[in-house]
Amino acid sequence: MNHCLAAAAAAFALLLATPAAARLAAPEQRMIATIDAEQERTVAMLGRWVDHNSGTMNFAGVKAVGDMLRAELEPLGFKVEWIDMTAANRAGHIVARRTGRGKKLLLIGHLDTVFEPDSPFQRWVRRGNAGEGPGAGDDKGGMAVMIAALRAMHAAGTLKNADITVFLTGDEEDSGPVEIARRDLVAEGRRADVALDFEGLVQLDGADMGSTARRSSDEWTLTVTAKSGHSSGIFTPGAGSGAIYEAARIIDSFRRELREDKLTFNVGLIGGGATAELGADRIRIGATGKTNIIAGTAIARGDLRAISPEQIARAQAKMLAIVAQPLPGAKAEIVFAPDGYPPMAPTDGNRALLSRLNAVNRDLGLAEMGELDPVRRGAGDISFVAKDVDGLAGFGAASDGDHAPGETVDIASIFKQAKRAAIFMSRLAAERK
Ligand SMILES: [Zn+2]
Repeated sequence: MNHCLAAAAAAFALLLATPAAARLAAPEQRMIATIDAEQERTVAMLGRWVDHNSGTMNFAGVKAVGDMLRAELEPLGFKVEWIDMTAANRAGHIVARRTGRGKKLLLIGHLDTVFEPDSPFQRWVRRGNAGEGPGAGDDKGGMAVMIAALRAMHAAGTLKNADITVFLTGDEEDSGPVEIARRDLVAEGRRADVALDFEGLVQLDGADMGSTARRSSDEWTLTVTAKSGHSSGIFTPGAGSGAIYEAARIIDSFRRELREDKLTFNVGLIGGGATAELGADRIRIGATGKTNIIAGTAIARGDLRAISPEQIARAQAKMLAIVAQPLPGAKAEIVFAPDGYPPMAPTDGNRALLSRLNAVNRDLGLAEMGELDPVRRGAGDISFVAKDVDGLAGFGAASDGDHAPGETVDIASIFKQAKRAAIFMSRLAAERK
């Protein structure tokens, strides 16, 4: 091959393997450069947030972390407001707004963690690419992605005309009564065109997954009462079966009759005997009984997770029908708590957003993200707006061991996610409605 031909072949090969940068507009390349240049700043910021306890019920701590976020958002031109939630017996939320001409974006994250001040797990420890600490991933890591992306947009000029509301709840891990505690978030969802949730990125076999859906989370409590008496008479017409057999019948019928795709229901707590009483915290039962006394009472608590309101209704109807056919001598009642998390169903609108995010992935030279099976993730705040606005979840960081001491964030994922989010948001924000 002569020199000229070799050069032409090389140029052709270059064309085939167009580097990612060539597919990105100049401001997009600038955002990537900013996120990379600010890596140490971002990690130091996250470390300060993690070192400040913000367990859901540590109201002063949640407010203090809210102030730290305010200090990041105000210099970017956001008008920041603290919504007090004393009425819901919770700390409150941060809402930050800047108005613009394009699509209205709603970014959702949370200030609180599951680790209260009495937890032994309180400190940020960095080991290379791993950052360990309470909320390192969930959701302080997610807020770090959000701030890194917004700072990059600010530096590149793509934030200037963007219409963005940031909503950071203070009680995601243990919400107050939702009609109060989620009232303002629901209202923001009605105004928005796109909602993005900065909670954990889910990876399967090393591949980043796109979250178009999250399942609901509801709680139920089963209470059974029955005639007590001498055990020798059990199953006779006069004595009946007792409360524990009836509770066992109901729970095993759930297991056999309710199962369907995307639906799960766990029994997390059970107790029964001659007496049984549910504690005020609803996480323990005090029970007494003897082997020779027919159980007079039994209590069980569990959850129900589903992909759509129809699936919740179908499951609850079956549960009620099972409860309504008690064994002789027993009486059972099931109550569904009113404060559940609704489902975010995988709508066409959400899927369209994922394909637009995959265009960003292609332009960044990253693999496309497949659609995550929602069975693989928990409930989240984006579900409260899902019926009113298209959305995507999982813009936060990748992490391991969330909700337990040792929770660890993958620091590199913060920068990767910030690049994705900054470019995705800039493209959406530039679109006229
Ligand atoms: Zn979370």
